[in-house]
Amino acid sequence: MSKSRGRFGVHGGQYIPETLMNAVIELEEAYNHYKDDPEFNRELTALFNDYAGRPSRLYYAEKMTKDLGGAKIYLKREDLNHTGSHKINNVLGQALLAKKMGKTRLIAETGAGQHGVATATAAALLGMECVVFMGEEDTKRQALNVYRMRLLGAEVIPVKTGTATLKDAVSEAMREWTSRIDDTHYCLGSVMGPHPFPTMVRDFQSVISKEIKQQIMEKEGRLPDVVLACVGGGSNSIGTFYHFIEDKNVELIGCEAAGRGIDTFETAATINTGRLGIFHGMKSYFCQDKYGQIAPVYSISAGLDYPGIGPEHAWLHDTGRASYVPVTDDEAVNAFEYLSRTEGIIPAIESAHAVAHAMKIAGNYDKDKIMVITISGRGDKDCAAIARYRGEDINE
Ligand SMILES: *Cc1c(COP(=O)(O)O)cnc(C)c1O
Repeated sequence: MSKSRGRFGVHGGQYIPETLMNAVIELEEAYNHYKDDPEFNRELTALFNDYAGRPSRLYYAEKMTKDLGGAKIYLKREDLNHTGSHKINNVLGQALLAKKMGKTRLIAETGAGQHGVATATAAALLGMECVVFMGEEDTKRQALNVYRMRLLGAEVIPVKTGTATLKDAVSEAMREWTSRIDDTHYCLGSVMGPHPFPTMVRDFQSVISKEIKQQIMEKEGRLPDVVLACVGGGSNSIGTFYHFIEDKNVELIGCEAAGRGIDTFETAATINTGRLGIFHGMKSYFCQDKYGQIAPVYSISAGLDYPGIGPEHAWLHDTGRASYVPVTDDEAVNAFEYLSRTEGIIPAIESAHAVAHAMKIAGNYDKDKIMVITISGRGDKDCAAIARYRGEDINE
């Protein structure tokens, strides 16, 4: 077992059973080969642009800027991508890579169903078989996404183990991959798991910060002062941060789901409440109980409801390069409503966590400062749940 590869400080590595070693080595070799292959990159760029609708817009939120009375606010509109979130960036990259590797079958885990839908979409497009593992609890809460995945030709397998939610779906997908690596690629949905996933997924998502940099140079002629994104496993946020990491004057802020608050047990704020541990093939910070068992986590946002965080974020936190702030359900719901009303943009409840923190701090910056917030997805999927949160029962 190799624990030295894919390290971010002490974090990352490959903490996996011997039976999975061949699969990750094959994947790492293929990725190292194709990532610099001009033909692969041409094909991926064509999929990004013609199929997913990239580049996504960088939009000046003038009303929000004026209302908050501080930094000039831009929104990076990943919600405008095909399938409605940033997840498609990673999925198109991995599906194309799997196809080049001669794989014919994609498996994936999903929580709320966003990553499962994106994977089923890519599988349909590239003519691959697709199986999605989803906690049984989540299949009930997200019946519409289960229907979408089946409509796209995927098989959805409800996972009954553990708490029957996202972390159990990841475990089950890893188990399935172990038993069938010859024709199957595990399309992991965030910057987590064993190396090379955190690096590979980050590279596919880094198109977000690459575009922000070009777009803000065109619009403002300089780099932003602060960029914000929400953090679940951490893929839209690392994609937003990546090309700014070396630009030391650009402040990087990740917004974690605090749920009912970081002083309660109903939280998913990993950096703010977690401890160092090993789970799902990586060393990083995890929410744990006093015995070191992975703790059940809670957030109103299913996409942020994961007990860990990608190893590169753990390292950016350790080195102080990025900061990670908790945002509660209440604050996120307020921001969800605020952005809808103020800019006519209904954000995913995940993305609303970043909007909420921006609302708190924008006024602390002078008017000549520039802030970019990544809107990781659109909020249509959340409307019924937020209505319920406000005491209104609507039919989905
Ligand atoms: C899945 C998801 C997230 C959380 O995942 P990250 O890997 O942290 O980006 C955030 N926003 C949306 C819209 C999602 O679908």
